[in-house]
Amino acid sequence: MGKVLIIGAGGVGTVVAHKMASLPEVFSEIMLASRTKSKCDAIANKIGNNRIQTAQVDADNVPELVELINSYQPDIVVNVALPYQDLTIMDACLETKTAYLDTANYEPLDEAKYEYKWQWAYKERFEEAGITAILGCGFDPGVTSIYTAYAAKHHFDEIQYLDIVDCNGGDHGKAFATNFNPEINIREVTQKGKYWENGQWVETEPHEIHKPLNYPNIGDRESYVIYHEELESLVKNFPSIKRARFWMTFGQEYLTHLRVIQNIGMAGIEPIMYEGKEIVPIQFLKAVLPDPGDLGENYTGETSIGCRIKGVKDGEEKTYYVYNNCKHQDAFNETGAQGVSYTTGVPATIGAMMYLQNIWKKPGVFNVEEFDPDPFMEQLNKLGLPWNELHNIDLEL
Ligand code: NDP
Repeated sequence: MGKVLIIGAGGVGTVVAHKMASLPEVFSEIMLASRTKSKCDAIANKIGNNRIQTAQVDADNVPELVELINSYQPDIVVNVALPYQDLTIMDACLETKTAYLDTANYEPLDEAKYEYKWQWAYKERFEEAGITAILGCGFDPGVTSIYTAYAAKHHFDEIQYLDIVDCNGGDHGKAFATNFNPEINIREVTQKGKYWENGQWVETEPHEIHKPLNYPNIGDRESYVIYHEELESLVKNFPSIKRARFWMTFGQEYLTHLRVIQNIGMAGIEPIMYEGKEIVPIQFLKAVLPDPGDLGENYTGETSIGCRIKGVKDGEEKTYYVYNNCKHQDAFNETGAQGVSYTTGVPATIGAMMYLQNIWKKPGVFNVEEFDPDPFMEQLNKLGLPWNELHNIDLEL
């Protein structure tokens, strides 16, 4: 039985609220707080039964967060606002000695770096305060990291090659839309590519390395090497890894729109002056793009995300592929949100459950692969993200 404060009422917050509300034996009391309270109220009303309390909070403001946490007294804060708010929410958790969980690493507003250094710097302070911070507990990062930990625990003596493969084989029927917050998504996919090889990072031009990969139940999709934040913690926590890459599928139509957006300067993160007012181009773009939270209704097809791993077990070389497929329509029918929000919100819910059940609880700041993967993997099967595994197949990589 635990009390949880969810911060952020977007696509992911919607799924977390729905899932937690359906598990009263774990989440006995739930508060959903965000910048715009009406969005929290709409989600709470849809769930009904007075399961969810709501509040307004500016998560950029530490004293406001501290006041809310002190008045509600949650056991854990689940941060599904934006990566910009990670440090302020961690500060408030430190001050109130409350556990913390998020799904994306901190990013300064003015530079897209995707590094854990800012959050890892809180480790000693969390240890001293005796509280737990669980970082990156969505799907990727999150489940992909737990898959890797599970593979290391059960199937390999040494993981040598790790390829995380992320395919969205869905169709939302819009000319251009992003599946989660457009600002964060466009910043992520337009940056230079980067992967780990033989003890160092290798940088590539954006989308330079690509090839078709075959995804279960979806088929061949062109897949591109991009940098993704879980690579940083995985190569640190599994030092036997010789090469770690992250592949994501993009359609030609999506890439063409992205190129135009970049070429005309609309992906810019530096403020510009417009009619006497400072605006950030990518934030303005977000305001005119479809809301990812509204894509669900007509979204068809499915996602397929997993880890393709090569390494050694008992002196023999072996390959292993562990993955989940998630249908957008199933996600929508259950929570009103599409598959990408669902595959992020369910793991965040399970991470908070692991903490409240004292399974993932230790003082400090941890990436999810540093905890026991088994109880988490068990819950994935129960809570809507079942996984499949294949042994000794051709990984195509
Ligand atoms: P949305 O943009 O849909 O929602 C973000 C929510 O945070 C909104 O409700 C927004 O409020 C709120 N918010 C923003 N700033 C503040 C603030 N200063 N104070 C309080 N609330 C604030 O994003 P998503 O739901 O798509 O994504 C949520 C998080 O999940 C992001 O960090 C994203 O990077 C991460 N993510 C992780 C994935 C993974 O697999 N690990 C995959 C997909 C997403 P308002 O409505 O007022 O704007």
